[in-house]
Amino acid sequence: MDISTTCVHGCKKKYDTTGAVSVPIFASSTFAHPGVGQSTGFDYSRTQNPTKEHLEQTVTALEGGEDTIAFSSGMAAVSTLMELFSPGDHIIASYDLYGGTFRIFTHISEKNGIKFSYAVNTEEILKKITPATKAVFIETPTNPMMNVIDIAAVSQITKKENLLLIVDNTFLTPIFQKPLALGADIALHSGTKYLGGHNDTLAGMLTVNTVDLSKKLRYISKTTGSSLSPFDSFLIIRGIKTLAIRMERHNKTAQAAAKWLTGQSKIKKVFYIGLQDHPDYEISCRQASGFGGMISFYVDNEQTAVSILENVKIIKYAESLGGTESLITYPVLQTHADLPKDEREARGINGCLLRLSIGLEALDDIISDLEQAIGGK
Ligand SMILES: *Cc1c(COP(=O)(O)O)cnc(C)c1O
Repeated sequence: MDISTTCVHGCKKKYDTTGAVSVPIFASSTFAHPGVGQSTGFDYSRTQNPTKEHLEQTVTALEGGEDTIAFSSGMAAVSTLMELFSPGDHIIASYDLYGGTFRIFTHISEKNGIKFSYAVNTEEILKKITPATKAVFIETPTNPMMNVIDIAAVSQITKKENLLLIVDNTFLTPIFQKPLALGADIALHSGTKYLGGHNDTLAGMLTVNTVDLSKKLRYISKTTGSSLSPFDSFLIIRGIKTLAIRMERHNKTAQAAAKWLTGQSKIKKVFYIGLQDHPDYEISCRQASGFGGMISFYVDNEQTAVSILENVKIIKYAESLGGTESLITYPVLQTHADLPKDEREARGINGCLLRLSIGLEALDDIISDLEQAIGGK
């Protein structure tokens, strides 16, 4: 079955007998038992709820793998993941990362005794492995610099060294990239972004490839209590119905917008993984079937950056990405503000860098908006 059909129909299990075409929102915190020691399969919604289960099985059908667990946000998924590790454990992460992930690593997990090293590519990952290393955590493409990491190549290392490979798949989604099929053990999502797709809901997902990981993470999830609510599960299920068609459009518009940006005199460099001169273009073509809707670019000076942020009309100056509305973000002040300045600069995140999430508006309207916001030639 084509992935677009799976998006529309979701998991096959039916939870009611009315013939409802849309999955009901089971707004119940608790479930009555048919007899002592018996369960309908649902006991208490922190552990599991039918609407949440429907979402989880749908995401598993899209990502592949054994099971998916849904959380109240992407960061709740990351913090649950961190509970798999113990003091003294070492994790190697991609150098360029979502700011919130970097923050949880450095300000919370390190305090709890977990150590981190950062690497830019496969060779560096290999060099940083120590006897204490337990996992490799990568984003690809990375946020906000759009570097691409070869998932299959990293997975050869992690399999050989017996490490967990965790891939944040938020930017490309299973429509374009399937980390588990490429050898990862866990695919992570901020469901807030493309899966939900409408800039209206927070959610997170972990899709795992073994029963053992599923059991461990479900145990942590029900114990720490970061489960996604039935109503928010419903919104993400609804978002996923149009995921394939939205990704196709985001991809097409972003490709054209990136080309247009490349030709503007005040735009100094464009980072879009679908441009043929992107240094990782070949890896992208090998491991993904599309390039997504995320573009970063350098403008000529900070004044131009501020002017664009303050003058866009259709595009909104806001954090986040992956929704119907185009959003423009200033990583230096928003998503990556908590990175120490020298770390930020070393990653190329400065006052001239802007990140654009291409929404579903018409290409011409997006371009005219950028054109008037950029101002004079
Ligand atoms: C937004 C984001 C997160 C965090 O997800 P929330 O839903 O905002 O908690 C993690 N990784 C990436 C790549 C993101 O864009």
